[in-house]
This record gives sequence, structure tokens and C-alpha cells, in this order.
Amino acid sequence: MEILDILIIGGGPIGLNCALEARKNNLTYLVIEKGTIVNSLYNYPLYMRFFSTAEKLEIDDIPFISTAPKPGRQEALEYYQGIARQREININLYEKVLKVSKAGDIFNIETSKAVYKAKNVIISTGFYDIPNLMNIPGEDLPKVKHYYTEPYPYAKQKIVIVGSSNSAVDAALETYRKGADVTMIIRNPEISKSVKYWVKPDIENRITEGSIKAYFNSEITEITDNAVIFRDKNGTINEIENDFVLALTGYLPDFEFLRSSGIELQGDCLNPMYHPETMETNVPNLYLAGVVCGGKDTHLWFIENSRIHAEMIVGNIVSGKESGGKT
Ligand code: FAD
Repeated sequence: MEILDILIIGGGPIGLNCALEARKNNLTYLVIEKGTIVNSLYNYPLYMRFFSTAEKLEIDDIPFISTAPKPGRQEALEYYQGIARQREININLYEKVLKVSKAGDIFNIETSKAVYKAKNVIISTGFYDIPNLMNIPGEDLPKVKHYYTEPYPYAKQKIVIVGSSNSAVDAALETYRKGADVTMIIRNPEISKSVKYWVKPDIENRITEGSIKAYFNSEITEITDNAVIFRDKNGTINEIENDFVLALTGYLPDFEFLRSSGIELQGDCLNPMYHPETMETNVPNLYLAGVVCGGKDTHLWFIENSRIHAEMIVGNIVSGKESGGKT
């Protein structure tokens, strides 16, 4: 069986960047992706717009031409999938990595389809696959969604949006403008400070004028077939009629997968342990790249500031190889 120099888990923007960097350095590599190419972006809301400008989303200095200052989901899909196609990146799709283990210096990577061997492994699995659950009764009802795609299903419906981050605010504004009766239930005293600066006044003005109802310092406690029950800032329990709940309460990396690969997780945020200059974890030759690095703090890393991981990791692998110690 071939022993790869690098096996990359996850074909998001950062996994693809690692692949380009590996090839530039004449290393053998394979990307394994459980969905389509840049699967997280494919599952974003259909009309989402990045907060980053196009050049900040570029990988390997390949120009990202966008018709708007801040590209949308479809342009980003064209860009990253176009790179994978034109640069002929070695990537296996619809194949999930189940287990990473090590025998001596060689990693064994078990997937839903095969077993691979590699001298180095990069985990770039992101955080968009596991919703941060509220753990309340009724959360498993079919009317409760943890992902928002588009506003049209919610026309003339009574919807509750939980959260006040970018995703929640975008969903509130879009659905309100397609005729939904929108109530936001927000744990914090105000709309999140990280909401895009050009969107924040829009949501705040809609709340002030009463077009969108918002309960701050409030917490949803139960969801039933046709109602939502929540505790407001005075501690009063309220029940409102409801057709759909969009629980946009964030997402989490797959901590079990990281742990089972031998990576230590530290502190309240379960920050994975890695060296900040090389991205190598506490398991030698096992690296982390992209937004998975932040643990529960998913606002720490973006494409913008984690593009650099590919060069750091491959540079470390190559320097080890040159000194006879890495691959
Ligand atoms: P991801 O793109 O999430 O890629 C991880 C990949 O790993 C996925 O394709 C997944 O299917 C795959 N995978 C996971 N587990 C396995 C497994 N076991 N086996 C095989 N494959 C697996 N960042 C910015 O810089 N600018 C922005 O404007 C911006 N906007 C954002 C908007 C939204 C709505 C969200 C959610 C995030 C945004 N981000 C933005 C943050 C971040 O940049 C993105 O989340 C980006 O996709 C991260 O890239 P990544 O490659 O690290 O992870």
C-alpha cells in the first residue's frame, strides 16, 4: 500500500490550500472529503454574502474575481471548486474519515470506504457539521431547523429565531421581507457585536419600529407542535404561537473525532493543543488547519486568517524531511 506524505482530512478552502501547498513542494497527498468540494460553503444560506472581500478569501494567490466587493456563496463555490478542477487536486469525495491512529511513525486512516497510510495527517474539518444544541424539550421536532437555507418556506408563518449572530440576523431580515411574522429570542442584552456593520442598523431599526419582535436577556425553554415557551428578562414565562423555529445558535467542531485522534483539548473552550508556529498537535506529525483550531470559540479563525496554515504546516514537514526527521 502506498504511504502518502500527507493525508488531508476535509476539502474546505483550507484543506484545498494545504493540497496546493503540498503539491508545490512535490509531496504526495490526498484530500478526503465527506461531501462535495467545499461542502460547508455548499450548505450555507443560498443568498449569504461573505463579510470578507474577495481578495481575503483567495488561496495560493489565485485571483478571486467577484462582481461585488464582498462575494456571495455561489461565487465562492465557483472559485474554490474551479481551483480543485483546474489544478486537478487529488480529492476523494463522499468519503468520511472515521478514525486516525498511529503505528510507529505511520498513520492509519480509516474511512467509510477504505484504509490509507500516511506519514503526516492534516485535520482541516471545520466546524459547520455539528449544531450547538439548546438541549430543551421539543428541539427534535421537525419544525425546528439548525440550518437556514432561504426565506421562501417561511412566508406567512410565525417563526422564532434563536440567537443574534450573523446567521440569525440574516435569517430574521430575509424572512421578515418575505412576509414571515418574526420573533427573535436572544440570550444577550443586545444584537451581537460581530454582526456585519452594514447589516446591524437594519436589524436594530426593524426591532425598534416593531416590525421584528425581539426579546433580549431571554431564553427559550420548550418547543411544542404549535408554540414556543421562553423566559423573558423579568423571569416571566411566556408562550407564543409558532410554526417554525430557526435555532441559529452556532456550530461546533467534532471534538470526539479530535480526541479519538489523540489530540488534547484544553480549557472551557476545548481548545485543541497545537504549536502556534507549526500547527503540529501534541501527536507528532498530526496537524490542524483552518477554523477547527478554535475549539468552541468559532469566531477566532476565518478563511482570512487561517489561509497561512497551509504554508506553516507544509514548511514544517519539508524542513523536517530535509533534516532527515519528518517524512
Ligand atoms: P470548512 O470549510 O468547514 O471545511 C471543512 C470540511 O471538512 C468540510 O467540507 C466537511 O465536509 C469536511 N469534513 C468534516 N469532517 C470530515 C470527516 N470526518 N471526513 C471527511 N471530511 C470531513 N470566513 C471568512 O474568512 N470570511 C467570511 O466572510 C466568512 N463568512 C462565513 C459565513 C458563514 C455563514 C459561516 C458559517 C462561516 C463563515 N466564515 C467566514 C468562517 C470560515 O472561514 C468558514 O467556516 C470556512 O468554511 C472555514 O474553512 P475550513 O476549510 O477551515 O473549514
